[in-house]
Amino acid sequence: MTPLNLHSPCRRDFVSLAAFDEHITAKPSERVSTCLSVAQMLAKGWVRDGRGRWSSPRTQETAGRARERFSAVGVSSETPSEGVG
Ligand SMILES: [Zn+2]
Repeated sequence: MTPLNLHSPCRRDFVSLAAFDEHITAKPSERVSTCLSVAQMLAKGWVRDGRGRWSSPRTQETAGRARERFSAVGVSSETPSEGVG
């Protein structure tokens, strides 16, 4: 099973990048991997799907729309290859 949005410090996987971001409690500037515990997430209404991926109440609302596309940041250093295949 390939992790979708795996947070390696807590070994948890998330249905979307939004859910991933939501479980992190530290500010980006803090550079620490502080995140919600399972108990905290359950208390806030997070649920885990059949694949073990967590989703927050907020992301559950938009789960019906499968059109969310998150463009990854920081991977723009690829050189375009000519002649695919
Ligand atoms: Zn985490």
